[in-house]
Amino acid sequence: MSIFRCPYCSTAIPITPYTVQQRFPSFDSNVGHVKHLGEVKTDPSCLSITFYQCPECKQFSIIAEGIGTDVRDVYLNIRPLSSAKSFPDYIPAPILEDYREACSIIHLSPKASATLSRRCLQGMIRDFWKINEPNLSKAIEKLNGKVPAGQWKVIDSLRRIGNIGAHMEKDINLIIDIDPDEAQKLIQLIEHLLQQWYINRYEQEQLYEAIIHIDSTKQSIRKGE
Ligand SMILES: [Zn+2]
Repeated sequence: MSIFRCPYCSTAIPITPYTVQQRFPSFDSNVGHVKHLGEVKTDPSCLSITFYQCPECKQFSIIAEGIGTDVRDVYLNIRPLSSAKSFPDYIPAPILEDYREACSIIHLSPKASATLSRRCLQGMIRDFWKINEPNLSKAIEKLNGKVPAGQWKVIDSLRRIGNIGAHMEKDINLIIDIDPDEAQKLIQLIEHLLQQWYINRYEQEQLYEAIIHIDSTKQSIRKGE
């Protein structure tokens, strides 16, 4: 069964008639997207509007997609406007801004989205690992040995996605050809690394602090006895 992840509470929503409904508005309301004598007739202007309702938080997520022959270029997150996940504010704001912007334009311009994702990744490597390299390719090289081998391999292979590597050597802002799926993969990698680096470090610090606090409280109680 395919699932949809609620952008409001991250619940995995199973696709059922209780959670998902589709409507097909079009210029010609008589045709739209209807079954006619066993075949589906679609008006060239037809959109598919998909409504998801999360069974947990009850929020609606709405996506519009062009399915008619003349409107295939339409793909829009109507609610929420962006597919960006919410991340804690101890992650530096410029990094989150690049991430959110990369999410918001992924279907409008995968190239621009991928460019922002790469800038976001470079910002993360600079901020989190204190690696100051003028280009992402060099920064990734220097990251080798600092992160788990498997993780580095994935980050490094990103250089080869859409032939990014060769171009990135020259200029981080250079626009290269990339399709929405590749741009989406870059965003997923950013989300993964935000979790693996920033959130895991924060949670580890919180846990350590809590344990040390318990320990020192117990010590002082013992001393008081
Ligand atoms: Zn939800």
